[in-house]
Amino acid sequence: MKKILLLLAFAAAVYFPAAAQEIVKGEIEDVPAQGSYHPTFSSDGAAFLPKNIILMIGDGTGLAQIAAGYFANNEELTYANLKHMGWVTTKSSSHFTTDSAASGTAYATGQKTYNYAVGVDDQKRPIANIPERVAPDGIVCGVVTTDDMNGATPASFFAHQPNRGMTDEIWADLPSSALTYFAAGSKEVFEKRPEATQKAVKKVFTIVNETGSEEVATASRLGVLPPAVETGYIVNGRTDFLPKATREAIDFLRARTREGKGFFLMVEGARIDKACHSNKFDSAVKELLDFDQAIAEAIRFADEDGNTLVVISADHETSGLAIWNGKPSEGKVEGVHISKGHTAIPVPIFSYGPHAQDFMGVQGNEQVSQKILKLLQGRQ
Ligand SMILES: [Zn+2]
Repeated sequence: MKKILLLLAFAAAVYFPAAAQEIVKGEIEDVPAQGSYHPTFSSDGAAFLPKNIILMIGDGTGLAQIAAGYFANNEELTYANLKHMGWVTTKSSSHFTTDSAASGTAYATGQKTYNYAVGVDDQKRPIANIPERVAPDGIVCGVVTTDDMNGATPASFFAHQPNRGMTDEIWADLPSSALTYFAAGSKEVFEKRPEATQKAVKKVFTIVNETGSEEVATASRLGVLPPAVETGYIVNGRTDFLPKATREAIDFLRARTREGKGFFLMVEGARIDKACHSNKFDSAVKELLDFDQAIAEAIRFADEDGNTLVVISADHETSGLAIWNGKPSEGKVEGVHISKGHTAIPVPIFSYGPHAQDFMGVQGNEQVSQKILKLLQGRQ
């Protein structure tokens, strides 16, 4: 009973449908301009099948969140330098307005499911995720997030549990996952898990507590679990964990691919959603700008490599954000939140590299996943 109450409390904390509320105004100013990466476009829209695919999910990131970052950064973002774009609709099988678990599962498995489900279908049966489907073909896979590893989005790429609140069960699924690399929160969260789970995870993954460790060169499978502050909010002291871990994941996976095979990486900017849930506009903008730096790392690699597709979207929008004023030259933008929950407005999708054109137009989140799987399997 206690567990059920806990789960209900947890569900209420992470998922509110967009209930009416007083609008909450927010503003940010004097944002130091961080520039952006300008792609070469040499492989963008090419007809050959990509070897590697990087899927980037900005949690809670609708058009207004992206635009707020764009205006705060003096009308510049790596996002905004891309040319292939479309819309993604996000409804789940149970709700018009999805949560991150149902949408994460749709992105990970190509199937719609109910809110709170992690890697399972409407009958609570496990559904194979992209890593599980492509790893047997020799494609190595990884996950990077600023959330805890048991967060709904990363969990959808390795776990199969009927409820996102089942933290211990989700961690217990990690040793049998198809992941070769992960970087996520946190040292503290991991050390709170049952000893048997910690032992089982350490048997499969070399666990380190920072990016840039010596084990990057030697480990066959690596898990990076930094202290909580390093995957927490930027406004609470996180620095460059997300872009750094994104680059490390790319290099780690690439070094472990077999001849002719590629990799699949999912990168999540988790805290754009969380900042919007608490209607903290300035925090959300800082998280978006950080996510844009991770996007720059992925696009830069795609240019170096010439054989990599990058797909950037979101699991849903959070807080019904609107922008009502700003002064880009002063790094200033003002927004209003109309909700502390998710909304059902379609989210933008951007893509870059070979077959980027496949993601233009309007599509469901599960279709994005189906397209990625088809491209990865098409090379086998
Ligand atoms: Zn959320």
